[in-house]
Amino acid sequence: MDHSFLIKPMLDDIYPVIDYGKGIYLFDMDGKRYLDGASGAVTANIGHGVTEIIEAMNEQAKKVSFVYRSQFTSEAAESLAEKIANMLPGDLNWCFFVNSGSEATETAMKMAIQYWQEKGVQTKTKVLSRWVSYHGITLGALSMSGHPGRRARFVSLLEDFPVINPPYCYRCPYNLKEANCGYLCAHELETAIKRIGAEQIAAFIAEPVIGAAGGAIVPPKDYYKVIKKICEENDILFIADEVMTGCGRTGTMLACEQWGISPDIVALGKGMGAGYAPIAAAIATEKVIEPILAGTKVVMSGHTLSANPQACATALAVLEYVEQNNIIQEVEGKGAYLRTQLEKLKSLFKFIGDVRGKGLLLGIEFVQDAVSKTPFPRNALITQRIVALAKDKGLLVYPAGAGIDGINGDSIIISPPLTISKKEMEELVHLLKETFNDFSNQLNEGKG
Ligand code: PMP
Repeated sequence: MDHSFLIKPMLDDIYPVIDYGKGIYLFDMDGKRYLDGASGAVTANIGHGVTEIIEAMNEQAKKVSFVYRSQFTSEAAESLAEKIANMLPGDLNWCFFVNSGSEATETAMKMAIQYWQEKGVQTKTKVLSRWVSYHGITLGALSMSGHPGRRARFVSLLEDFPVINPPYCYRCPYNLKEANCGYLCAHELETAIKRIGAEQIAAFIAEPVIGAAGGAIVPPKDYYKVIKKICEENDILFIADEVMTGCGRTGTMLACEQWGISPDIVALGKGMGAGYAPIAAAIATEKVIEPILAGTKVVMSGHTLSANPQACATALAVLEYVEQNNIIQEVEGKGAYLRTQLEKLKSLFKFIGDVRGKGLLLGIEFVQDAVSKTPFPRNALITQRIVALAKDKGLLVYPAGAGIDGINGDSIIISPPLTISKKEMEELVHLLKETFNDFSNQLNEGKG
């Protein structure tokens, strides 16, 4: 059972072997139960073992599991594309299906470059992005990711696409308060464009709520309006990486909707297949696809398993389930309740510096001192220790942080399946409180 080469366990954590999942719980072979407070990696949006999805997977398997994308399309892929176009705002109508979030952001990047080429502009090949961001692990996606920890070993193979600060109000780089900050962090994009030259830049990419690298960092109110305006004034496409935030996680199908902005290209993943199938997508507006259809006619990308009928039928069943059960409509209320409970924990534990997030994508940042906001030293591995303590108690939480010394503190993401009930949220908070009690004891024993 130990032959699969997984991530090297930290802190000697041995990976338990999972037997089965039901609802928001996972059960290992020893019968231990885990409350999935992270939806795995913000993925299992509708929980585990949902009968309707299993039935749809079986039905598709009986018909056909694979056709090659440049020979055939399938009913499953066509229906999924139509469902996504209907669920997304505006005219984000053209879906390119891939197998992971990294492929989705990288495809989005290629679509943007191809868009300009088809319009006769060959020089626009760079994509600008922010520090404290994560867009995926493949080299193109990693080039866009402002995540020093994950870039470190491969810097020589990467482009320097991250150029501006994140909208990280808790640790504002300008030491300003939101109400009168003038959105200086957004205006950094203007400066970067002037320095690099708009004629070099195809697109700007951002996660509406910064996830893995930052721990659910939410921008101030008009931040994206400023960013979108700068992009438009400079002929730069805006790519929303909604791999983590999309498909209802923050309370709307796209998180972008909450700031009233419409992206030119969107990347979806994670919640789209909700863990039942490896599937993701880059979705373009009519404006972006029009010159491509008029020119080369195809998006110059693709994988053997792109638009795999089995994966498409599964994702279609997931999105239908989300729609039919009004799951997205309940996220705001559930998120507000859970956040209030997390705020209460903040008042109990002085190592909690910040509680933040949107909908059911919530973050907790840990600090040595709540007043000075001093982060713990990196080598104390605080995030990993808290994640391990929670796992011991039977609670899964997601580790976050870009590993930027002195800038980006330790944090975790709390993101249970969107289907979680109030009683289950109470249990989550109870387990989290016990975890923090244990961590507090460790600190008191001098293991800081
Ligand atoms: N973009 C974002 C915003 C993500 O959170 C992730 C995964 N954490 C990715 C891209 C990459 O997705 P994947 O791991 O499926 O390649």
